[in-house]
Amino acid sequence: MSLDRTAGSTMGRLDGKVIVLTAAAQGIGQASAIAFAKEGAKVIATDINESKLQELENYPGIQTRVLDVTKKRQIDQFASEVDRIDVLFNVAGFVHHGTILDCEEKDWDFSMNLNVRSMYLMIKAFLPKMLAQKSGNIINMSSVASSIKGVENRCVYSATKAAVIGLTKSVAADFIQQGIRCNCVCPGTVDTPSLQERIQSRDDPKEALKAFLNRQKTGRFASAEEVALLCVYLASDESAYVTGNPVIIDGGWSL
Ligand code: NAD
Repeated sequence: MSLDRTAGSTMGRLDGKVIVLTAAAQGIGQASAIAFAKEGAKVIATDINESKLQELENYPGIQTRVLDVTKKRQIDQFASEVDRIDVLFNVAGFVHHGTILDCEEKDWDFSMNLNVRSMYLMIKAFLPKMLAQKSGNIINMSSVASSIKGVENRCVYSATKAAVIGLTKSVAADFIQQGIRCNCVCPGTVDTPSLQERIQSRDDPKEALKAFLNRQKTGRFASAEEVALLCVYLASDESAYVTGNPVIIDGGWSL
């Protein structure tokens, strides 16, 4: 929140904006939902995990809704319930560990479905509302493990996140003259519950943690809150001239 010195009251950078986001029950999605609400947005936080999602109900400005982003019918129903939307933040994604040889067809299909098709479905459902309003802002979650950087054991994951960059640029180019902008966020390694699960699921979690930390030039992971602050900027009018960008936040990992 910034101080409005003329009025002597606090003004949020997202005052009055309606923001819909997916995968908001934990990690970057949860941190972003809270950061958006603190800046005055009316947040509709969605996730497949109902019990975890309910933790957000205590925050003023946040309402929650269960949504599985792989289900077109659920998405279309949800979109029909939302009157106005200023910002759509597509967060949901899954990290598959392994090379192409470790990636079975079912793994490929699962990741493509959750990481890419979900964004196609969400944008297709909400973009017509934005076009009718003559304004809209879409933020997609990508990663530096994509077309930006080759990362070991991230084959299908990187393929999906590169697709997200392509989708982002395409939507930005197609609708720029109709008041729509579209960017994506490309984090490095972020300390979230799924990162901790990935570390714990390895044969030697201590070694896995060391390996993850060794690849950080800063010697630490990003926090979900740090990534959320970048998302506040992208969601706000401060970034009004920014569109079609894969915005990197990786502590220099991809340098
Ligand atoms: P996370 O993986 O810890 O949480 C993911 C959330 O997605 C959970 O709340 C889960 O319930 C929800 N979810 C799973 N399937 C769903 C579905 N079908 N419909 C709706 N919700 C569903 O969160 P995270 O680590 O913050 O990752 C969020 C996004 O950020 C992902 O797209 C991820 O690829 C990306 N990302 C993460 C990192 C990282 O290091 N954590 C780095 C770069 C990019």
